[in-house]
Amino acid sequence: MTANGMDSAPANAVDTVNLCKTYAGNGKQQPRTALRDITLSLPRGSFFGLLGPNGAGKSTLINILAGLVVRSSGEARVWGHDIDREMRAARRAIGVVPQELTFDPFFTPRESLELQAGLYGVPKARRRTDEILAAVGLTDMAEAYSRSLSGGMRRRLLVAKALVHSPPVLILDEPTAGVDVDLRRQLWSYIRRLNGEGTTVMLTTHYLQEAEELCDWIAIINHGRLIACDSTDALLARLDAKEMIVTVDRDIEAVPDALKRFNAENKGGRRLVIHYPPSRVHSGEVLAAVQEAGLTIVDLATKEVELEDIFLRLTSQADEETK
Ligand code: ADP
Ligand code: MG
Repeated sequence: MTANGMDSAPANAVDTVNLCKTYAGNGKQQPRTALRDITLSLPRGSFFGLLGPNGAGKSTLINILAGLVVRSSGEARVWGHDIDREMRAARRAIGVVPQELTFDPFFTPRESLELQAGLYGVPKARRRTDEILAAVGLTDMAEAYSRSLSGGMRRRLLVAKALVHSPPVLILDEPTAGVDVDLRRQLWSYIRRLNGEGTTVMLTTHYLQEAEELCDWIAIINHGRLIACDSTDALLARLDAKEMIVTVDRDIEAVPDALKRFNAENKGGRRLVIHYPPSRVHSGEVLAAVQEAGLTIVDLATKEVELEDIFLRLTSQADEETK
């Protein structure tokens, strides 16, 4: 038995094979292809980021896994269960926080959670209503009318509802949109804890920095195609780019000869920005070249490549290719 009470633990929490989705058109609308041959695996226990620009197909993928959208072709398994042939088991293994903000106007947060637990057949003795309410910061609002909840509170209630049956796979579609910074931190610290205890987490987010901090695996999709899927470290290493920002003791007219073998930019005044591939050039070599140019360094900073850089490069490459 795992921490989540599931009897068998597969190597991958989710697998999709050549998953495709085309939304049928109607009189006015053309059919729209949202997913093209998506084959990906979420390693069990991972904190997995699914990134992509608006309209890339992220919600479609998540909704197929949740059983809310019917795929056109391909296969998907959740916790080893085929989403068609073993639909009930697949659905029990997953908790989904949808992107759309829905709420139950007639129930308090506590009632919503109890109702949801009932739907999943969680016995009263095994319910964690208070723990979950506290984790999402809704203890004080537990008995409040749902209509008095703010947007951020409603979103946190959706997160809470996805957790009542202790699913081994938790999927969050833009869960922090509209949630303020403090609560976002609180929410992530709880979700990190769940991940630490074994829950596989998949999330989409617009905040690339959030994804970079949280996720150990990242997939990027664009126009319905998977364009990258790798560990976060491997993905960041792929760009092989670093920047050194040097401030020197006097104004510089042009990039000195000694620095011409790097890609250096004169930022005007006393600042130079030097770009280099860290796999082939050590920062020591860059520093030596600055000194060789007869410049005295008064300040120095380096900038690592960020997920945002990778994201922009990969998605714009893919845009070029689909033109
Ligand atoms: P994302 O979540 O990455 O923003 P979506 O999965 O919501 O992307 O959408 C992918 C594409 O599918 C978009 O072009 C969108 O307009 C289209 N789409 C999404 N849902 C529907 C739907 N119910 N009917 C028709 N087209 C849809
Ligand atoms: Mg979406």
